[in-house]
Amino acid sequence: MSYAESLICLNCGTKYDLGWYFQGCRSCATDEFISNLTVDYNYEKVKETLTHELFNQSRKLWGYEDLLPVGNKNNFVSLGEGDTPLIKAERLGEKLNFPNLYIKNEAMNPTMSYKDRLASVAVSKGLDLGASRTVVSSSGNHGSAASAYSARAGLECLVFTLASAPKVMVSQMKAYARNVVAVSSSEGRWTLMKKCVEELHMYPLSTFTTWPTGNPYGVEGYKTIAYEIFSQMGGTTPDFVFVPVGYGDGLYGIWKGFHELTQLGISKSVPRMVSVETSAGAPLHEAYRSGSNRIRKVAMKHSTAAFSIMTSVCGFHALYALKQSSGLSCALDDREILNAQSDLGRLEGLAPELSSAASVAAVNQLISEGEVDRDSRVVCILTSTALKQIDANPEWSLPPIVVDPDWEKVRSMIESPRQNITEKA
Ligand SMILES: [Zn+2]
Repeated sequence: MSYAESLICLNCGTKYDLGWYFQGCRSCATDEFISNLTVDYNYEKVKETLTHELFNQSRKLWGYEDLLPVGNKNNFVSLGEGDTPLIKAERLGEKLNFPNLYIKNEAMNPTMSYKDRLASVAVSKGLDLGASRTVVSSSGNHGSAASAYSARAGLECLVFTLASAPKVMVSQMKAYARNVVAVSSSEGRWTLMKKCVEELHMYPLSTFTTWPTGNPYGVEGYKTIAYEIFSQMGGTTPDFVFVPVGYGDGLYGIWKGFHELTQLGISKSVPRMVSVETSAGAPLHEAYRSGSNRIRKVAMKHSTAAFSIMTSVCGFHALYALKQSSGLSCALDDREILNAQSDLGRLEGLAPELSSAASVAAVNQLISEGEVDRDSRVVCILTSTALKQIDANPEWSLPPIVVDPDWEKVRSMIESPRQNITEKA
């Protein structure tokens, strides 16, 4: 059963019931700041009933139902999300001279991204709250997950996307949702979505406010990544967890999962969280680096192929998680991310979306800057798959060389040390 009790503001502590609150805390909101709400639980009661065996092995998401905010089991909407592999990246670790590098492969979720964890919990809570239609604003993974889980729940989903969204991402959204609309500006999507929520009472599955406050119930789904990592590492906590960051839901949710394990007396420590953004625009990195308690909107400096983490704003909850965990932040160029993506493919057999590979690129950068010790245990979250953005890596886009079935020619090609037979010269 769920032990969720209320929503609570991360900034001022104001409590709200577990109702229809998707625009953050109104008690402490100003023109330039809105704080995120988060779900609070009766942790004393959880402690009384919880067995430590719950964390002895990794489970599917709803295996952790006590620590999720959905009261009615009949409303659990599942496509088999969670319990994704944690892989030790030995060859890549060797290249980086970094022996304890682990990859959490979230592309193994039903719509191939970690957003499924958010969508599963958010849509289930929507059924609890009596939602009849859903709405989401997304240029990619979030839209696919939201529309898939809405379909699974029998709810019609309206998706506001961007004309610039990759074709594969849009096709995937259309596979699950009849109504996918491309809007000409990013902020315009939020204005339209707000109208849908306020005037048509559609249930929001993503943020639609200037300062991202998101769906606080959905963010709870990300906690299960922390529970799984703890189990998969034999009941221990890594030293660092690297997370690609857009609005910051994933970073905050994963930190919260680890923090809860300490609150419940299951583990003794929380990893230092590391936020990974793109140098095109890094609002969280800039706020954290300056020591500010507020995140400001930043101008995009240039374009980036890592579009899933391309954003000029970020939620306050992400800054909160960095501060609470004495975390680190960084912002990377596309070139560094592309190199990490290529290495993951050819050294580890993993092909993540470019934005996901940013987590591994960041490890490389922070080791060389001396911020991360070489004997640390690090987990990188690979949030999604390259199949959704297959043309991002120029190396992969080259057509293969065409050969005649002439064995002598082919053999000399294979044996020639200078010839790379997979690519045209
Ligand atoms: Zn507040």
